[in-house]
Amino acid sequence: MTDGPTYGFDTLQIHAGARPDPATGARQTPIYQSTAFVFRDADHAAALFNLQEVGFIYSRLTNPTVAVLQERIATLEGGVGAVCCSSGHAAQIMALFPLMAPGRNVVVSTRLYGGTITQFSQTIKRFGWSAKFIDFDDVDAVREAIDEDTRAVFCESIANPGGYVTDLPAIAGIADAAGIPLIVDNTSATPYLCRPIEHGATLVVHSTTKYLTGNGTVTGGAIVDSGKFDWSASDKFPSLSQPEPAYHGLKFHETFGPLAFTFHGIAVGLRDLGMTMNPQGAHYTLLGIETLSLRMDRHVENAVKIASWLEKHKAVEKVTYAGLPSSPYYDRAKEICPRGAGALFTVALKGGYDACIKFVNALEIFSHVANLGDARSLVIHSASTTHRQLSPEQQVAAGAAPNVVRLSIGLEDADDLMADLDRALSAAG
Ligand SMILES: *Cc1c(COP(=O)(O)O)cnc(C)c1O
Repeated sequence: MTDGPTYGFDTLQIHAGARPDPATGARQTPIYQSTAFVFRDADHAAALFNLQEVGFIYSRLTNPTVAVLQERIATLEGGVGAVCCSSGHAAQIMALFPLMAPGRNVVVSTRLYGGTITQFSQTIKRFGWSAKFIDFDDVDAVREAIDEDTRAVFCESIANPGGYVTDLPAIAGIADAAGIPLIVDNTSATPYLCRPIEHGATLVVHSTTKYLTGNGTVTGGAIVDSGKFDWSASDKFPSLSQPEPAYHGLKFHETFGPLAFTFHGIAVGLRDLGMTMNPQGAHYTLLGIETLSLRMDRHVENAVKIASWLEKHKAVEKVTYAGLPSSPYYDRAKEICPRGAGALFTVALKGGYDACIKFVNALEIFSHVANLGDARSLVIHSASTTHRQLSPEQQVAAGAAPNVVRLSIGLEDADDLMADLDRALSAAG
């Protein structure tokens, strides 16, 4: 279909990027399970390798099934292009890779997914990169943290797991004034609840593993480019603005304009880092995205019901959910994600660490897993699992204190979920 600007979200989540298969008429996007694609002739092959013509060469770089998903996600986020990769963590490295170099840093929020904190505080050091962790509610501190070597600002729209919502327009303004891109991880919100590009983000990253796929089957990631950043305005981004030796001195920004970041992600990032999404995985995520808005509405409805009920429960000390009027982020959530504050929140139990362990063991419908954004309701005790590598200070800063469990509210009957939670809270004492 032609993606006219008049189509609504529900239409685009089913149709964007796809059309009946030209060879067979297949209405659903086929899984193009092929490693390589035949060149028409030697000139065609040369044009593809010189990036003079866009087409399919080899599935480490591009694949027709994955390409449909890329266009679908880019359209839903309001970006000009997207690159899919093998996981959300791969997407984060792929987003930073064209921007960073040894000695460069990224200014990041303290409120991030646990695995992202580890990736940024430990692993990226091996590349000579570093991250400065800042409280993003302190906008002056964010501004002051940016120095000559900063090449990006990174945060989550709705931060997992602490029910925190980032003031995206304020942070985007600071990044803009410093001439560096803002990267927003929009995994917990999805483009149905929040569109970071409309609030000033340059790049949006996703773990498609979560709500976009929505059924807990495959891992994947995506980087969406707004196409709005001027990579040539300074000498800070030579990978995009300067001649690329591996392509006969081609300059990505000069040649591809707003699509520079996307082309670089495929032609250099996927080519040389190889963190590729496979077509089978793209197929599952495409199936999931078709019902994204319906699922998110139900996730939010269930989350609001259950969080409001839990907040009044005698075993509960506190519920941290930006969808509750008691949250300090309630008003901000109405601006940044007007359709709802997602379906992840944390619950602090009066009984402390031991009560949390008994609670997760006693739940029946909720599964104790290191995942979120599934049709099924999930629970995790972050301090003893995903956030266990962090110091106690980092755990508290990330909303994962020892007496806190994180719930990912699924699509089951809310009454059944509340009965399960009630039973497990009694068992926890
Ligand atoms: C899960 C998750 C990631 C990492 O994604 P993977 O697909 O597991 O690599 C990053 N950010 C957020 C917010 C996540 O929930």
